[in-house]
Amino acid sequence: MDYLLNEQQIMIRDLARQIANDKIKPVVAHYDETEEFAWPIMKILAESDIFGIYIPEQYGGLGGGVMEMCLATEELSRACGAIALGFAGTALGTFPILLYGSDEQKKKYLTRVAKGTIAAFCITEAEAGSDAGGIKTFAKKDGDSYILNGTKQWITNAGEAEIYTVIVMTDKNKGARGASAFIVEKGMKGIEFGKKEKKLGIRASATREVIFTDCRVPKENLISKEGMGFIVAMKTFDNSRPGVASQAVGIAQGAFDCAINYARKRVQFGQPITSFQAIQHMLADMATQIEAARALVYASARMVDSGAKNISKDSAMSKLYASDVAMKVTVDAVQIFGGYGYMREYPVEKFMRDAKITQIYEGTNQVQRNVIAANLIKESMR
Ligand SMILES: Cc1cc2nc3c(=O)[nH]c(=O)nc-3n(C[C@H](O)[C@H](O)[C@H](O)COP(=O)(O)OP(=O)(O)OC[C@H]3O[C@@H](n4cnc5c(N)ncnc54)[C@H](O)[C@@H]3O)c2cc1C
Repeated sequence: MDYLLNEQQIMIRDLARQIANDKIKPVVAHYDETEEFAWPIMKILAESDIFGIYIPEQYGGLGGGVMEMCLATEELSRACGAIALGFAGTALGTFPILLYGSDEQKKKYLTRVAKGTIAAFCITEAEAGSDAGGIKTFAKKDGDSYILNGTKQWITNAGEAEIYTVIVMTDKNKGARGASAFIVEKGMKGIEFGKKEKKLGIRASATREVIFTDCRVPKENLISKEGMGFIVAMKTFDNSRPGVASQAVGIAQGAFDCAINYARKRVQFGQPITSFQAIQHMLADMATQIEAARALVYASARMVDSGAKNISKDSAMSKLYASDVAMKVTVDAVQIFGGYGYMREYPVEKFMRDAKITQIYEGTNQVQRNVIAANLIKESMR
């Protein structure tokens, strides 16, 4: 389908596709097996200016937006959803600065991200996942700085990233208005990382705890104002969820590509399995679902980039639908491969393992449905 991409978007998509095919595909199994963070690929992405595609030109980027971020994430995920996450997780960690940072903060941090510095976003804690209001990590004002204490859990890119945007409480009595957002740098005294988590999928992605022990952060690193933490977080998710959705579309497309190629070659009962209508219909459904998900993702990304005010519903819809499609399509791809699909020697079981996380992080799909329903009900009252 023609999504009427402009010249720069086509260039970004093609560049990401070329890196995915030439550089990522040959090493996918290695990184899945070793669970190492793919630094050599991050370096290639940085040298190709991919990290800067959604950063404004005045801060050293290419001046694109969420649409460009989605195009690159989709292409990289078509090869490997885990390696793509080094890039997409950086975008998540960067959005608080992009959306709410001061000019000084933007100059200091966005210029680094544009060159390939990895970032991470930290809100989740052991007792506070979907219920982000339950976070306990606390920042206490002390002269010209804040002192952070607490532990963030399951943070993508943790340990590898240099820049951390962190949502913490600054006033426990103010509920949702008592949270604030800070930028913390790796190397500051008092920030440490837990062990790398062992995961079902996206194994090459680094997931660790981020532990703050009397971590002193200068007041210049407060994003926006005290009390804005949850607004920063929610707007960040509105911008980043199409990115998870594009990761899901890429994973689904990657699994589909493998499935159709395999089905053409696999012979049973003296004929390629593509001659069986059961397989044909499965392929037709998979391709249709992927295309529908892609259309929704691009539409929501363009909505975000248009500056429209209320984007929460569209953004949540794209994440919900694309991730459910990724799960279904990757399970079907394994089915088309039959027993071979179950073997780690073949590529589709990894797509299936990687797909699952897209239904969970940046708000589970149950939470996305809550967001969509709340907005629908509000709209119906107007
Ligand atoms: C690999 C990985 C990477 C991650 N990366 C990051 C990161 O970079 N930064 C970060 O801050 N966090 C990150 N997370 C955390 C992730 O966002 C949370 O796991 C997610 O928001 C769900 O929280 P939870 O796991 O505590 O589940 P819970 O909130 O305990 O939910 C458990 C179940 O209950 C359901 N549920 C909960 N509340 C409701 C409700 N109100 N209505 C309906 N159903 C509900 C959920 O949908 C789910 O099915 C990551 C997690 C993983 C696994």
